[in-house]
Amino acid sequence: MSYVLGLKCKECGHRVPVSPVHVCEQCFGPYEVEYDYAAMKGKVTRESIAAGPKSLWRYKDLLPIEGEPKTGHFSGYTPFRKAERLGKLLGCTDLWIKDDSCNYPTYSYKERVVSVAISKAIEFGFDTVGCASTGHPIELRGDSRTALAWRGVAAMGGARRCVAHRRGGRASSSPRRTGRAGRATRPGHGRGGAGRIAGGRRGGTRSVA
Ligand SMILES: [Zn+2]
Repeated sequence: MSYVLGLKCKECGHRVPVSPVHVCEQCFGPYEVEYDYAAMKGKVTRESIAAGPKSLWRYKDLLPIEGEPKTGHFSGYTPFRKAERLGKLLGCTDLWIKDDSCNYPTYSYKERVVSVAISKAIEFGFDTVGCASTGHPIELRGDSRTALAWRGVAAMGGARRCVAHRRGGRASSSPRRTGRAGRATRPGHGRGGAGRIAGGRRGGTRSVA
């Protein structure tokens, strides 16, 4: 059972039922998921969360997913690492750092949000998901961390992936890097174009896998 009530605009408070929209039709503000916290009382507790799976899905009652997640099954529940030397430098006696490089399968700290987003997209009935990538200068694939997580989690869920790279600015967004076998690319018009093609309109340099 989900505790989701619907979507509520963060700026003006306008409410709409759960649907694949993200911009308020009244003021163009961002929608946020509204939960029934009163109904959660006594049911969603520290103990109920601790009894859940060792992944981000132990927090499913606080996420906008109906039923079981469709992908990203192993994301989250990353370990803490004790940082003794940094702690000493900062004057902290007991400093720990959350190691989100342990997310599986993409080892990206962006995997949590991507897992929720793509799981919801599949739940809505979408068979193809897309995102805009600014590119990353040291990643072999030329994707940003978001795009890497996007590809891996979408593949796990069986969805087709579309990543739009902006043209120029970084070597990773060049057609040479994105035009590998099995992908289609086309010229773009900067970051805005990448965002438009990710949303289904023309522009950007696209790679499909
Ligand atoms: Zn609004």
